[in-house]
Amino acid sequence: MITSTVAELFTQENKHIDVEVKGWVKSFRANRFIALNDGSTLRNIQCVVDFESMEEALLKRITTGAAVHIKGSLVESQGKGQDVEIQVSSVEILGDADPELVSKTILQPKRHSLEFLREQAHLRVRTNTFGAVMRLRSALSFAVHDYFHKNGFNYMHAPIITGSDAEGAGEMFRVTTLDPKNPPLTDSGEINYTKDFFGKETNLTVSGQLEAETYAMALGKVYTFGPTFRAENSNTSRHLAEFWMIEPEVAFMDLEGNMDLAEDFLKYVIGYVLKNNVKDLAFLEQRLEQEEQSKPQNERSAMRLTEKLNFVLDNNFKRVSYSEAIDILRNSKPNKKKKFKYPINEWGADLQSEHERFLVEKHFKCPVILFDYPANIKAFYMRLNEDGKTVRAMDILFPGIGEIVGGSQREERYDVLKAKITEVGIPEEELWWYLETRKFGTCVHSGFGLGFERLVQFCTGMANIRDVIPFPRTFTGIPYQSFKFAFMSLVMV
Ligand code: ATP
Ligand code: MN
Repeated sequence: MITSTVAELFTQENKHIDVEVKGWVKSFRANRFIALNDGSTLRNIQCVVDFESMEEALLKRITTGAAVHIKGSLVESQGKGQDVEIQVSSVEILGDADPELVSKTILQPKRHSLEFLREQAHLRVRTNTFGAVMRLRSALSFAVHDYFHKNGFNYMHAPIITGSDAEGAGEMFRVTTLDPKNPPLTDSGEINYTKDFFGKETNLTVSGQLEAETYAMALGKVYTFGPTFRAENSNTSRHLAEFWMIEPEVAFMDLEGNMDLAEDFLKYVIGYVLKNNVKDLAFLEQRLEQEEQSKPQNERSAMRLTEKLNFVLDNNFKRVSYSEAIDILRNSKPNKKKKFKYPINEWGADLQSEHERFLVEKHFKCPVILFDYPANIKAFYMRLNEDGKTVRAMDILFPGIGEIVGGSQREERYDVLKAKITEVGIPEEELWWYLETRKFGTCVHSGFGLGFERLVQFCTGMANIRDVIPFPRTFTGIPYQSFKFAFMSLVMV
């Protein structure tokens, strides 16, 4: 008797052998055909029951959602599209699922909206769509570690609780043990954080970059891959309050090298899932095509999912300076016809996602790396160019996603960095440790931050970032209103 996962059964060379498998019933048809899934693969294995030889009471308990232990013989299938099936000799019910209760959940095998699935995040991973997305997410995260490991990087764990609020990457979540109803106060009536757990104000991290930089100054090539938190009160399909960020940081690497690294890395991880997650991708591609059908013709994507992924692999990312991009945008049709919500009039304007999407989706029609941004719209730690007004920053823009990577060459010159910190008004005692790295063997170095969920969105074709992370944490100040969109995406579970 061989105990297997469903995935293993489909690759089993020997037929007519005794097997056993455990999983959940997807459906039970004609008192005879159990479609069984155990999460190891998208496909269900068909288990054929001889109902005449089985007790009525047991048959009744084989219901959608139930956990079962099946023993039988693996045989070539008579059914169309199945290569093997199990001739069942025994069924043991491991966990019942009351059909009455199941019918109120998303486990019921019919079309449900993604919005409805979100309300049952604890069950949605049992659907084909979320099974595929989460297996892909898992594969992608393995590919991330695999890439860095193969390229000599050290994995660094950046702290989650941080004391400095200097990064400025976004609004922070406060971490405190003070009693919110009765906090200790200073003489001037403000909250006295010296009485707090850490003796000062602390927050959840918005980025591990500054800490990673210090590690790059010793280990050379490092990367972080961990949760980050931003109290984003924007309700978009690309922002979460808790998301996973990948942040490589490399000593002796300039912005060119940074662009090369980001491009090589993205191609590797996308290539990895194209090679290893064929079935899940095929399913998601089909799902996406159905979803596209419900959109107006002009909003449909020109490429299928795997075509889009292959397109990224096969083409060089277009590298364009911020100044060139501004010229393109200024002279673009939507700008002239006043179609942009934020018109582009002059150099120095911050680019909004409408502009990024125009550049990627309409103008260049391929991934774009924008670089050399105006210093005053970028963070304090970015390397100032010789022109004195731009910094060695880069953003990578992807079709359908917009910004997927933000990075830069870091300012390695102590005096320039110190002046900048003063200029933007960060107290030096917040960043003394960061400044010290520029005192002891400073060097050119660079890195970037990649939002893992945006990568998963790109690879799965899921439109909403809430559907690529197991339990999405998002702003609830304003109820999420995606159901107001003209079309509703229904998925077959
Ligand atoms: P955006 O303009 O899209 O808000 P950002 O400029 O705030 O991005 P960075 O601070 O450069 O982003 O962070 C690096 C990367 O982290 C981004 O390129 C993006 O992929 C991802 N990211 C940023 N904020 C979020 C968020 N709230 N949810 C998910 N991913 C995010
Ligand atoms: Mn942001």
